[in-house]
Amino acid sequence: METITKELNSKTKNVLKRGMMDNVMEQFNRAANHINLHPSIRKILSITNNELVIHFPVKMDNGDVEIFKGYRVQHNNALGPYKGGLRYHPTVDIDAARALAMWMTWKTSLAGLPYGGGKGGIQLDPSKYSQGELERITRRFTFALADNIGPEHDIPAPDLNTNSQTMAWIADTYMSTRPPAERSANQHVVTGKPVESGGLEGRDRATGFGVYLNIKFWLNSKNETLKGKRFIVQGFGNVGYWAAYFLEQEGAKLVAVQDVFGSLYNPEGIQIENLYNYSKSNKGNIAGFPNASIIAKDDFFGVDCDICIPAALGNQITKESAPKIKARLVAEGANGPTDVGGEKILLSKGITIIPDILCNSGGVIASYFEWLQNRSGEMWHMEEVMDKLEKKLKNSFDKIHEYAQKEGIDMRTAAYCIAITRIEKAYVQRGIFP
Ligand code: NAD
Repeated sequence: METITKELNSKTKNVLKRGMMDNVMEQFNRAANHINLHPSIRKILSITNNELVIHFPVKMDNGDVEIFKGYRVQHNNALGPYKGGLRYHPTVDIDAARALAMWMTWKTSLAGLPYGGGKGGIQLDPSKYSQGELERITRRFTFALADNIGPEHDIPAPDLNTNSQTMAWIADTYMSTRPPAERSANQHVVTGKPVESGGLEGRDRATGFGVYLNIKFWLNSKNETLKGKRFIVQGFGNVGYWAAYFLEQEGAKLVAVQDVFGSLYNPEGIQIENLYNYSKSNKGNIAGFPNASIIAKDDFFGVDCDICIPAALGNQITKESAPKIKARLVAEGANGPTDVGGEKILLSKGITIIPDILCNSGGVIASYFEWLQNRSGEMWHMEEVMDKLEKKLKNSFDKIHEYAQKEGIDMRTAAYCIAITRIEKAYVQRGIFP
């Protein structure tokens, strides 16, 4: 199996890293200008509160010791504890962690949650390590993070290449380092845990469900339905798979899909469960799936379709790829998939973008439900979770859609304006200590 590192030759690596922070700051400043944000609050929100870079040693299966580099950036906690994922990927660095932490601040504020924003991860290619090594890397990183995370302080969750198993290791390590009588009270140090270990029913599908709902809400606002709509998905992991799953259930058709290993195309539609089962039996790799043809990586975004869902990495829709896009709607499953140059082109072509901070917010909303469930010792059921999630997302979508129309601005700027205004109000009410 080709490793991700091999895939990411140095040229691609630079493209992925390009200006994540520049993008988020340009988006922020555009909205801050629109709402005439108080200059002191603009200063506060333009920088991160805390940045942690940790080097830590781990013993490998062959007895060697390897040193890893982990990050945790805490952007802002005016509305509550820092909240945001941990990703394991070679592109994790301080620039990416800062940008992703800022996006989390806007996302949690927009969703009306009592959280701030944080993000982090480890710079590594997980496909190079055994399960035992990944467990030791995760536990040692958690130990090194120590009290810089905590259930009422900073609450990580899954992201790229991390999952419920990763969260179970973090929760167990963190709880094991507390005094015995306090252990259970610390279960909500992470969300996205397996259901048996304090996780929430439905958390696994929440982000993809939210992507699907946002697409549906947008179509409904135009008196259209999903039936017969053609969509393409970049990334067939947690977000991409579940978004595709729910879209297919309502009659939409997956005509192209891309993962790190390859790109597939079938104008008649690719069946989601067949592709999922194939990729499961093929170490998460979709390449070689029999009922579709292989297309070149660079042809993926140019496939004729109605809806395009980037659900992999940042900076994928750029000045180079945006002109090829034929979809009417880009629904951002990933964080930061469209850079500023790509966005200008999409908007000038009249393509609507449902921005990441709204489109993929189903994940953090479900994380909040899991946190509440752990705090109060309750067990919620799937229908209850999905129902509450849908109501919250509908509320966010309607607010942004209306504001964008009223102000004559795009949905991303509208989402930022609403998110930043909420934080501004909190600062104005409380003032600055001392
Ligand atoms: P995942 O690890 O489950 O899946 C990632 C997918 O992207 C895999 O199919 C992988 O092969 C593919 N991929 C990786 N590099 C690629 C490349 N260069 N080209 C094409 N495909 C590539 O990750 P996930 O949890 O689905 O997260 C995907 C995105 O969604 C990330 O940007 C993440 O920050 C964002 N997100 C995730 C959640 C969540 O709850 N998991 C919530 C909000 C946002």
